[in-house]
Amino acid sequence: MAARRRDPSKHDARGEAKGSRGKGTRSPRAGVSRSKEVVEEKMGRVVAHHGVAVVVRFDEGGTRQIWLSPDQRAVVGDRVKVAGDRLEALPAHGILRRRDPRGRERTIAVNLDRLFIVVAAEPREQPGYIDRGIVIARSAGIEPTIVLNKLDLPGSTALAERLVEIYGGSCEVLTVSAAERIGLDAIERMLAPDQVGVLVGPSGVGKSSLLNALIPDLALSVSELNRGSGHGRHTTTTATLHALSGGGTLVDTAGFKDFIAVDVEPAEVAAGFPGFEIALETGCRFRNCLHRSEPDCAVLAAAAAGTIPQRRLEAYFALQDEVASSSTRSTDPGFRKSSR
Ligand code: GDP
Ligand code: ZN
Repeated sequence: MAARRRDPSKHDARGEAKGSRGKGTRSPRAGVSRSKEVVEEKMGRVVAHHGVAVVVRFDEGGTRQIWLSPDQRAVVGDRVKVAGDRLEALPAHGILRRRDPRGRERTIAVNLDRLFIVVAAEPREQPGYIDRGIVIARSAGIEPTIVLNKLDLPGSTALAERLVEIYGGSCEVLTVSAAERIGLDAIERMLAPDQVGVLVGPSGVGKSSLLNALIPDLALSVSELNRGSGHGRHTTTTATLHALSGGGTLVDTAGFKDFIAVDVEPAEVAAGFPGFEIALETGCRFRNCLHRSEPDCAVLAAAAAGTIPQRRLEAYFALQDEVASSSTRSTDPGFRKSSR
């Protein structure tokens, strides 16, 4: 099958690319089937993105840099069919997006299966950071996991207990130490051979240290992926994928420090807030209930009965307030228009 122009609706689903494709009338088949010889089609995954080119790792082994023509879009994590110089991305799941400083939506990586939310006793994350991370993951269909790093630091055991108490019913809580190489295999085990995970967390909690501990020859593989692009690691590369020895893949998000810039909707917070699972199974009277003051709200009932602690309800309200104020800003049409 020849490489085909991608379905525009796919781009819209990612919130990007519309209007940015080439306006030319060039046949999308150009370059594939003109020559008499049959161009072999190979499956692979985009493991690095350099703006004008991507690096594809083929399932059968080996990597290749492919220049993107104006009508082609691909992001890190995409499964792709490559025929000659043409590349076609298959539909993706587990899409993580953020808004850049100019208000444009950017896809950080796709086909993510697991979001590791890394925290530590020092530095502590902002209040609500983990809640937000879990909500973002769930709304994107990505499985969240909390990773408490720096287990060697004092206070870690008490912190781990607290995290399990709050989040144990919602997701896995792993305790690790990158410095002492404790619990690293537990991270690897969370990823099946064909799965992709990403580490997020505030600066200083040890994400780079964990990547270095988990990925043999990380520095080497990063320079390999950048070879030929003419760019350094921190210029245009948004993310790179690295194979773990256990078979899974981890994303190195060099250009993705600002996890907080990922958008969330109030309805997503209402549906995915950690700790509300049991109450939400019972269900609120209204499907779009925001658990504020609606009648027959299962969450408010559980809070009144003490099943949901008051502090968690307050954390929920705080996150809703934060999300509501940031979404008014980001949907301002003037702000958006000026971004092109
Ligand atoms: P990042 O900003 O999240 O990528 O964090 P880094 O990996 O740069 O680590 C920040 C600091 O924490 C560095 O000084 C690391 O040496 C230190 N660090 C990382 N992991 C551990 C750990 O398991 N235990 C201790 N005590 N320090 C760690
Ligand atoms: Zn409700």
